[in-house]
Amino acid sequence: MALADITERLRAAERAAGRPEGSVTLIAVSKVQPAERVQAVLDQGHRVFGENYVQEAAGKWPAWRDHYGPLDLHMIGPLQTNKAKVAVDLFDAIHTLDRPSLAQKLASLGQARGSLPQLFVQVNTGEEPQKAGVLPADLSGFLRDCRAMDLSPVGLMCIPPEDQDSTPHFAMLARMAADHGLAGLSMGMSGDFEAAVAHGATHIRVGSAIFGARSYPAP
Ligand SMILES: *Cc1c(COP(=O)(O)O)cnc(C)c1O
Repeated sequence: MALADITERLRAAERAAGRPEGSVTLIAVSKVQPAERVQAVLDQGHRVFGENYVQEAAGKWPAWRDHYGPLDLHMIGPLQTNKAKVAVDLFDAIHTLDRPSLAQKLASLGQARGSLPQLFVQVNTGEEPQKAGVLPADLSGFLRDCRAMDLSPVGLMCIPPEDQDSTPHFAMLARMAADHGLAGLSMGMSGDFEAAVAHGATHIRVGSAIFGARSYPAP
């Protein structure tokens, strides 16, 4: 298991950026990983995990919560509106608020239940047509609409284009978050989390570098 290595690299990146140790939250992305690998990381004491699929997460995490105690679960995959209710009951944070219809659904769930997970707005910094996320030019209006619905996103999230240097995307996301007074920055994965920390990431999402390659297909 590479959890200790990744934690060590994260601490080094925090120090190199002049940031306090432990200021960046390491989300261990456990989607489609075999249960033994996830349990090994739980057994090492890690408690912050990320998942991409509501159904998969709902099938495994309640039992682990019962067994291991309090966990911090982050939804980092695209969220269908019809799965939003299950998602708000299961997750502590949702990183993929990316469209008005989902904002509306979350707002009404929030009104009914009195609380919501922490919300991050996903921004399509590369303006890729196939990728989810609010376009940079639409972010101000989207945040205004969210706030009008009583939603208070805590930060922004991005997934840079696979074939590009992530650094300009991290810099852009950090600038947009600062412009809008948002403290949270969910950015950086196995291949680029150190650069994300240098640009101010508060949450990094690391999967394969902790658990190994994902050998199972997505459900
Ligand atoms: C799968 C996934 C990750 C983790 O990717 P790795 O390259 O395995 O670290 C991070 N963020 C999102 C949104 C993902 O879907």
